[in-house]
Amino acid sequence: MRGVPILTYHSQNISGNDYARNDHIALRDDLAALHGAGYRIEPLSAAIDWLDGLRDEDSIRKSVVLTFDDGCDFDVRDFEFPGHGVQRSFLGILEDFRKQAGASAQPALHATSFVIASREARQIIDRGSLFGKDMIRDDWWAEVDHAGLIAIESHGWDHNHPDLAGAGRGNFHTVDTHAQCLHQVVQAAGAIEAITGRWPQYFAYPFGESSSYIREEFFPEHIEVHGCRATLGTEPGLMTQSSDRWNLPRFVCGRDWKSSDELLSLMK
Ligand SMILES: [Zn+2]
Repeated sequence: MRGVPILTYHSQNISGNDYARNDHIALRDDLAALHGAGYRIEPLSAAIDWLDGLRDEDSIRKSVVLTFDDGCDFDVRDFEFPGHGVQRSFLGILEDFRKQAGASAQPALHATSFVIASREARQIIDRGSLFGKDMIRDDWWAEVDHAGLIAIESHGWDHNHPDLAGAGRGNFHTVDTHAQCLHQVVQAAGAIEAITGRWPQYFAYPFGESSSYIREEFFPEHIEVHGCRATLGTEPGLMTQSSDRWNLPRFVCGRDWKSSDELLSLMK
C-alpha cells in the first residue's frame, strides 16, 4: 500500500547552527534533498483528498506534506535567535527554494502552520518557554494564510501547555470531556477564524497526544460542530488510506530523522 509522509518541523527548535540542532537548516536541506530525489511537495489537503477517494493513487505517488507546529513568529519572520544569530524563517526558506529552483520545480509547494489560538496563552508560553520577547504573535496569520504558501490551521486553544496555571497541564491526554474539547477545538477555531477570516479545517493535537474521547467520539461524531476534515498526531508512519483520519501519523524532525539521508530512507 502506498502512503504519504507528513513531516513536522518546529521553528523554535534551534540550539546550534547545524542540521541536527536547527530545524531551519534541516528544512532547507530537506527541501533540496526531497526535490532531488523526485518527491513532490503537496498541501495537506491533497493528501486528505486522497484519503477521501477524491484523488487517485497515481496523483499522490512520491508526494510529501510539510507541517509546522506551534506557530512561533520564526515560521514566517527572519530573526536574531538569542545565542545563534540571524535565522531564515520557514517561509523565507520556501520562498528561497522557489526562487532558486524555479516556480515550476515544485508547483504545489506548500506547508501548514498549526497555531495556538489564545493570545493570552501564547504570551504566557512566550515568557515561560521562549524569551519573553513576544515571538508567538498572530499579526501575520491573515496575510500568510491569504498568500497561499502556508495555511494557518489549529493547534488548540492553549496547547494545555505546562507554563499555564491550573491542574492537568502539560499533556493533551487530559482533554477528555465534551466541554474541554469544545474549549480546545471549537473556541480555538472561532478565534483563528476571527483573525484569518477562515475556519480551520485541520487540528494537530498538542504534544501529538489525544484522549480516546477526543479521537473516537468528539471528532468523528461532532463534525458539524468542529468542521474539521482530519486531525494529526505524531505517531511516526506514512499516512495510508487505512489511517485513522482523527489521528493521522506524522514524522517529526529531530525525533524520527536527523539528516536528509535519514529522512529519505525513512520515506521509502
Ligand atoms: Zn505543539
